[in-house]
Amino acid sequence: MQATGIARRGFILILSSPSGAGKTTLTRQMASDQKWGLDLSISVTTRQRRPSEIDGKHYNFIDREAFEALRAADNLLEWAEVHGNFYGTPRRPVERVLGAGRDMIFDIDYQGTRQVRTKLTQDVVTVFILPPSLAELRHRLERRAEDSSDTIEKRLANARLEIQRWSEYDYVIVNDDLDDAFRSLEGILVAERLKRERRTGLSAFVESLLAEPN
Ligand code: 5GP
Repeated sequence: MQATGIARRGFILILSSPSGAGKTTLTRQMASDQKWGLDLSISVTTRQRRPSEIDGKHYNFIDREAFEALRAADNLLEWAEVHGNFYGTPRRPVERVLGAGRDMIFDIDYQGTRQVRTKLTQDVVTVFILPPSLAELRHRLERRAEDSSDTIEKRLANARLEIQRWSEYDYVIVNDDLDDAFRSLEGILVAERLKRERRTGLSAFVESLLAEPN
């Protein structure tokens, strides 16, 4: 709430892309920059932890049984099977952040995006990140060198299917240069925060402006 009495409902900012297009880097960079005041949604997954990943920070790594229990108890806002592993978004942190009028950033796939859109409709903003070329995508996955060559081939085959979902998203960024992509994302966040429909107290503020003498 500002001195003007204008406030705003929080929203969910979802980034999706094929693996290697830079979505995870962008999501984390955006969430770690305090000035944006964005909470990061930490997913649960049954995937094996990569050497560079920290449990509880990048994901909560759980086994299939624990995943099934969360799902059965309706503790997941959305979930999907991606590349043969299960991923899901814990519901409570999302409710807490949105309830406090803050925004949350998600790194999830198109299946999860559809579920979140169905559940929350108006307070969801979606961004699709495209690689500049498939050759560059392969190069990035190989350079990351954290997955086996089998896994990389599987991810590249899936990339074609994932890329075809681009038109379901509000915004599309081609990640040719990470800094440019980051600036585009900042622009989206700023514009979405200014959206009239999401804000309360605007009418009263304008009335008070107009009540001022010339
Ligand atoms: P990775 O295994 O490379 O971390 O992620 C593989 C894919 O799963 C990525 O497209 C990522 O966005 C997606 N993903 C990660 N967490 C979730 C989640 O909680 N829900 C859904 N639906 N997808 C997720």
